[in-house]
Amino acid sequence: MKEDYKSLPVVGKLSRGEETAWLNPNKVPFAKSSLEIGMADIDDAAARLERFAPFIKKCFPETEKDNGLIESALASIPKMKSRLEEMYGIRIPGRLLLKQDSHLAIAGSIKARGGIYEVLKHTEELAKEAGLISAGDDYAKLASPECREFFGKYKIQVGSTGNLGLSIGIASAAVGYQVVVHMSADARQWKKDMLRSHGVTVIEYESDYSVAVREGRRLSDEDPKSYFVDDENSINLFMGYAVAAKRLKKQLDERKISVDKNHPLFVYIPCGVGGAPGGVTFGLKEIWGDDVHCFFVEPVQAPAMLLGMASGLHNKISVQDIGLTGLTHADGLAVGRPSGLVGKVMEPLLSGEFTLSDKKLYDYMRALLDTEEIFLEPSACAAFEGPAGLFSYEETKKYLREQELEAVMENASHIAWATGGSLVPWEIRKEYEETYLD
Ligand SMILES: *Cc1c(COP(=O)(O)O)cnc(C)c1O
Repeated sequence: MKEDYKSLPVVGKLSRGEETAWLNPNKVPFAKSSLEIGMADIDDAAARLERFAPFIKKCFPETEKDNGLIESALASIPKMKSRLEEMYGIRIPGRLLLKQDSHLAIAGSIKARGGIYEVLKHTEELAKEAGLISAGDDYAKLASPECREFFGKYKIQVGSTGNLGLSIGIASAAVGYQVVVHMSADARQWKKDMLRSHGVTVIEYESDYSVAVREGRRLSDEDPKSYFVDDENSINLFMGYAVAAKRLKKQLDERKISVDKNHPLFVYIPCGVGGAPGGVTFGLKEIWGDDVHCFFVEPVQAPAMLLGMASGLHNKISVQDIGLTGLTHADGLAVGRPSGLVGKVMEPLLSGEFTLSDKKLYDYMRALLDTEEIFLEPSACAAFEGPAGLFSYEETKKYLREQELEAVMENASHIAWATGGSLVPWEIRKEYEETYLD
């Protein structure tokens, strides 16, 4: 199959830039997924974030009210659901919820989960090695001037299309590190400006994300005091994202929303290199197994994860290999080559994917503003292709039949995972609101 990927119908559609739905043929019942990682790894990450909460609270006063916990609200968006039904002439059974990682503290995107977690994990390692903390200590002391001076001798580097750079950059600068962010050509100017205002060094590249990552990794490897956050291969980022699932479980429990065989959960997450949606999906599957159905959404010109998974080639293939540009308005999703690590973990877990045109990002953005008065950046709006697509494509309707879900769909919960938006400056937001108006 690996050599014959060109003959796969989905690859034909992708290469023509058509919108499509794809169901993952390698998904297996959760009990048979035999992963090497599991709940214990997520628990370890969650415990680390808890240890760091007093420190987070000190470094980021905006997290004071949540006691140093970086978490987002889960909102019900019935008016947006009706709007989607009108737009497509479909009915979406069940409730539609929005997971507002767009409004996460510090980074204003889902990257506040993985990015900040990885910076903290590295910080814990350095601090332990240097004897600055030991087990049972109050981590708030890591925010002291002496500790800041210590961290100032170390450097953190990362390659990014924008939001990961914002998250790692702002968090690392707050801890006291020197920070270098390697930005791909897709990164928006305001993101670079914002980072520089935090004292972060931003290096700009004319080329795409893979090159920015490669250069960043190379420069970091040359410097023994530098640590590289590797978006393509980082298990730490992945686990930081996975913690979201435990938090979501608590939020659903609080609202008395059940997830079980008769109350399926559908989750739709915009995908770039795969770390964020992959980590969240992994966590959700660990909690709810076969009762949760996860779908990724990618732009028609940058369906890196879909191509990697459908071909089985993962990071050995890029969207440019099938004649796509990799260019999209969805800067957070502008990735040509997926994470191989994530693609392999997703193989038995992911239900499927949707791709969508750039224009739809803006249509969904305006629809959400109009109906619910919530602003998301265009990349994040890709999530709405999930509930719209699930009831529009023959392939996904067949999935609902085959999984014997049709009879329980009235009890379903759909979560559109809003991955970013609250840091977008007002003028840029106004520009977005005027983009692709027809
Ligand atoms: C980074 C990002 C994603 C996707 O995360 P990946 O880890 O790159 O797959 C989705 N939406 C937004 C807004 C992002 O910044």
